[in-house]
Amino acid sequence: MSTMTEDRDNTPAAPPLHDAELVGMPRCKRCNLTYLVTKSTSALRLTYCSFLCELGDLGFSMTGLETMQRKPKDQPSPAPTGEPLSVE
Ligand SMILES: [Zn+2]
Repeated sequence: MSTMTEDRDNTPAAPPLHDAELVGMPRCKRCNLTYLVTKSTSALRLTYCSFLCELGDLGFSMTGLETMQRKPKDQPSPAPTGEPLSVE
């Protein structure tokens, strides 16, 4: 007699999502805090928790580089006019 136990839909409880999120939470390279990648405002969200940490660590931001307008080269600073402005 072989009574095969059918695979019932009785899978063990899946781990709560929070665990997976915690495991997946990286540690910010700069401030050393764990953070949610999806909450990071940094372009390098796997490295930094926020735009500010990215900016502080790199000295610039990747997002800033993308949106930054290129400065024209060899542009002389505007020469001050010799005429003094009328002072009131
Ligand atoms: Zn940080």
